[in-house]
Amino acid sequence: MSEVSAERGRFAAGDALMPIDRALAELDARLTPVTGIETVPVRQALFRILAEDVTAPVNVPGHDNSAMDGWAFRLADLPSDGRLPVVGRVAAGHPFDGDLPAGGAVRIFTGAPLPSGADTVAMQEDCRAEADCVVLPTTLKRGDNTRKAGEDVALGSMVLVAGTRLRPQELGIAAAVGRAELAVRRPLRVAVFSTGDEVREPGTALPPGCIFDTNRITAGALLRTLGAEVSDLGILPDRQDVIRAALREATQDHDMILTSGGVSLGEEDHVKAAVAALGSLHFWRLAIKPGKPVALGEVAGVPFVGLPGNPVAVMVTFMLIARPMALRLMGASVSPPPRFPVQAGFAFRHRPGRREFPRARLAWVDGRLVAEKFPSDSSGVLTSMVWSDGLLEIAEDVGDIAPGDIVDFLPYAEMMR
Ligand code: AMP
Ligand code: MG
Repeated sequence: MSEVSAERGRFAAGDALMPIDRALAELDARLTPVTGIETVPVRQALFRILAEDVTAPVNVPGHDNSAMDGWAFRLADLPSDGRLPVVGRVAAGHPFDGDLPAGGAVRIFTGAPLPSGADTVAMQEDCRAEADCVVLPTTLKRGDNTRKAGEDVALGSMVLVAGTRLRPQELGIAAAVGRAELAVRRPLRVAVFSTGDEVREPGTALPPGCIFDTNRITAGALLRTLGAEVSDLGILPDRQDVIRAALREATQDHDMILTSGGVSLGEEDHVKAAVAALGSLHFWRLAIKPGKPVALGEVAGVPFVGLPGNPVAVMVTFMLIARPMALRLMGASVSPPPRFPVQAGFAFRHRPGRREFPRARLAWVDGRLVAEKFPSDSSGVLTSMVWSDGLLEIAEDVGDIAPGDIVDFLPYAEMMR
């Protein structure tokens, strides 16, 4: 991050806002993974970040095999009446000894290896078994009801790439190619602070003019959905000396520091100055709404992000900026969350300039999927997050939205994991 001390004042109100896309490109360019690597059993690797490429040392399946219970045979041997003598039996795990004798059929079960020479399987529902023979359908094509060796995974192919977040299906593929253990990233350790003289711990008395702390709860929970280990380090007063000491202390055993509040342009916004004094700060006024002020930087080498104070802005800037930042630091490959185009079920005034993220949810109205928008766009109204299932994305250059216009919907489910 570039030094802000030399640049302070450069970001006075009225300066150009930074587009979110540029901010994300800068994050990508400036940050590298900070977490070490450990080896864990596959069954304990759920939602961890893979730290190696996994190549298949085997074909999956390892041999041509039957997809059905039935009879295996060579299609060219099938007489016009479909009748073949039954010359053996193969069950899964018990390969046929030798080659299929010419003109014979073999009783076979799902997953059993095809005897060499057999090329087709008739399913038992379509066959008639007689004493020593079976009458097979004459309508099959060569290869029917068989599975080819390597049709799932070819020997030598790469099945998983480093940076992948391991879902159940990735664990399954690792097991399918024979892996018992995987190299994964250690969890990212993140220190989380709230700031503000008015911010109080829920469960304590609330003096006049004060507000309960929601940001440590939401930001901490958002970090945990990414698999981070969160240290909840409490509420800091609006005092630069205290903030400095706490930040310095947090650098001892964390990979990332996240704060909320104190990064606007007011006199009581001390977080920026504390970070600039201890390390370096790159203060961004992002061209987004909600959540304009975001501070990024580093304290004694530990990456730092300072989110705004307003509770909705905290969650939105987390999803847009802190999440890709944390993913990058934890060695995960980062891709933009998917956007789903839906019809607007509302009218909305949008002044071009900032990319806006109103809170919304989807509903079926007269057979059409439409986005409903929460009535208030205030970045302080946390109930808007509870009501909604995602964000709408109104591009910088777009004007007013009318009912029926197509808008992009970003589900929270895609950004809280
Ligand atoms: P600030 O960015 O510090 O000026 O804060 C902006 C607004 O967010 C103020 O109304 C604060 O009271 C509120 N706020 C700041 N931190 C928190 C918090 N941890 N929980 C709830 N509200 C907060
Ligand atoms: Mg404050």
